Amino acid sequence: EPDGDEQAAWEGAESNPPVVDPPVVDLVEVTRSFPGPPPVTALHPTSLRVHRGEYLSIVGPSGSGKSTLLNLLGLLDRPSTGEYWLDGQPVHRTTERDRTMLRGGLIGFVFQSFHLLPHRTVLENVLLSTMYAPVPRRERLRRTYDALCRVGLEHRLDFKPTTLSGGERQRVAVARAVVTSPQLLLADEPTGNLDSATSEEVLSLFDELHADGLTLLVITHDDEVARRAQRRVRITDGRLTELER
Ligand code: ADP
Ligand code: MG
Repeated sequence: EPDGDEQAAWEGAESNPPVVDPPVVDLVEVTRSFPGPPPVTALHPTSLRVHRGEYLSIVGPSGSGKSTLLNLLGLLDRPSTGEYWLDGQPVHRTTERDRTMLRGGLIGFVFQSFHLLPHRTVLENVLLSTMYAPVPRRERLRRTYDALCRVGLEHRLDFKPTTLSGGERQRVAVARAVVTSPQLLLADEPTGNLDSATSEEVLSLFDELHADGLTLLVITHDDEVARRAQRRVRITDGRLTELER
């Protein structure tokens, strides 16, 4: 018969279900192959969990499968086999249309080449990303201003991206990525176009966002950038290995 503690735990569980906090990312034996010719297995069976608030880097050389993995994580692509649970939702069988919807609400992207609109101001670049938030424009403007304050660019609202330094441009891109309050920030070689001083601007911003509780996943070929993360995973020939601290 159950002992007292077990009984209490059971009753407790019934009256007060445990708070479920699924991993932000849960990849289960995911693969990605390209039919070719020649056929390529870019990602061998891969399982990876990223918990809320983690700062993870994935480091590997060119051709190792980083972009393939990032495209899957960011719902830009779908696995050949395996399961992807994003914030508790099964997204491995979603249609292109569903992925687009989910992406907007759950994921923020930062790219190596910034991808800012050159003819729009800093404010407009970030505001555009709030387009689908079901709130009045005034609220979208407030969120935009907050995001730009967060990255230290409140004095650059009316500037065009072309008049900014590389570090400032990448900070605009970070503001644009976080303005929608994503569950996951994905960065693909975020310092790839920056020198070491401006890289530091972006990396210390990531430290701050992590301290604020954001879940960050940075993909890089640069070991120094990778070491800034709390947890590191190496990718080689489409296979992941967890690295020691
Ligand atoms: P990385 O981003 O680390 O440089 P990728 O993920 O781009 O690596 O590529 C991993 C492997 O998958 C490479 O061998 C690459 O040629 C192959 N690959 C990537 N995308 C495609 C594709 N669309 N079609 C065929 N092969 C691809
Ligand atoms: Mg790549």
